[in-house]
Amino acid sequence: MLLIVTVIVVFIVLALLNTSGTAACRWREDRTVDTEGLSYWRCHVCGATEKTAKGRPPNVCRAPR
Ligand SMILES: [Zn+2]
Repeated sequence: MLLIVTVIVVFIVLALLNTSGTAACRWREDRTVDTEGLSYWRCHVCGATEKTAKGRPPNVCRAPR
């Protein structure tokens, strides 16, 4: 029984990770851009750019698919 529960939990965790909007994105902060107190992020997988509150990468990927 414990094994079955463990397998189910692992599948749920993997499903949550795969449906995340940033699963394919690699956000990197660009400190050379002046954003008036915000952080400027660039995804070097798809090329999307985003500004967020200081120090936190975006939650979603903005790139067209
Ligand atoms: Zn991206």
